[in-house]
Amino acid sequence: MTQTDYQSLIRGLMGDYRYVHSVNVADEAVFLAKLYGADVQKAYTAGILHDVTKEFPKEEQLQMIREFGIILDDVQINAPKLWHSISGSVYVQTELGITDPDIINAIRYHTTGRAKMSLLEKIIYIADYTAEGRDYNGVEIMRQKSRQSLEDAMIFSFQYTFQNLSSKEVAIHPDEVFAYNDIVINKERTKL
Ligand code: FE
Ligand code: FE
Repeated sequence: MTQTDYQSLIRGLMGDYRYVHSVNVADEAVFLAKLYGADVQKAYTAGILHDVTKEFPKEEQLQMIREFGIILDDVQINAPKLWHSISGSVYVQTELGITDPDIINAIRYHTTGRAKMSLLEKIIYIADYTAEGRDYNGVEIMRQKSRQSLEDAMIFSFQYTFQNLSSKEVAIHPDEVFAYNDIVINKERTKL
């Protein structure tokens, strides 16, 4: 499928707000891919599709996930916001025939991150925070960091996320902690 095909596909699956967000994330992912030397085509595809199932009914998402053989852990079961990244990674495989593991994983881990993220995974994770239209406390700092170092931008987003989740007494998914630890530990190592 071409970029235009993906655009019209998602157009029919979500409302205006999320459609515009998806296009913005794809554009931002392309920008970051050029900056950091990632595959531009893959960045666009993963970006435009990252929220593909976000407006699907929750029960439908659960069913897709289960039918694909993925078992949700306790944190995931209690956090429906995390479901769309998993159901999205299933959808692109079963409905769109996408087989590229890097694209699939970039969609699957765009909400939590994970240890040993690929360049593309980091780009999609960050583009979701730095895309045009995003508005939250610190968005300008996040954008600035994303242009200097993907790792520093990720650390900044984890600081915000962990603070936010713990202040609301919401569980933190282990993958998020693994992603944070992995980046911080490797950053320390390069300093030595
Ligand atoms: Fe998302
Ligand atoms: Fe998103």
